[in-house]
Amino acid sequence: MTNIENCPRCGRIFAKHFRDVCPSCLKDIDKEYELCSTYLRENKGAIITELSESTGVSIRQITKFVREGRISLLNAPNLSYPCEVCGTLIRESNLCDNCRTRFQKDAKKSTSTFASRAEDSKSSTSAANSYRINRD
Ligand SMILES: [Zn+2]
Ligand SMILES: [Zn+2]
Repeated sequence: MTNIENCPRCGRIFAKHFRDVCPSCLKDIDKEYELCSTYLRENKGAIITELSESTGVSIRQITKFVREGRISLLNAPNLSYPCEVCGTLIRESNLCDNCRTRFQKDAKKSTSTFASRAEDSKSSTSAANSYRINRD
């Protein structure tokens, strides 16, 4: 079955296979990536606002590249990206320390099983797998 969807980037209708955006946006994004990686090669000390202004690529898109591992922070010692919640610049995970702590507290409050569930995710994964096998 083919998924026909609107591209979240340009709104065009496309057949969704393995990608989240349409082929033409995919090309644009590749071009944007090239711009970023070239700029970073020549300006290793660049920060994200500088990178964004010089390349015309949005901070949002640069953040995506970093999260996807396409842009390595190892080669860009000053590059950090905004926390998903408050926008503080960070270099790992999706949240800054403050938001992470707050989030963990909230998670504990609402579901006390959350932490333990995350810890034995290995066994629950295999349980989920066998569940799927049984269903098929
Ligand atoms: Zn598109
Ligand atoms: Zn934050």
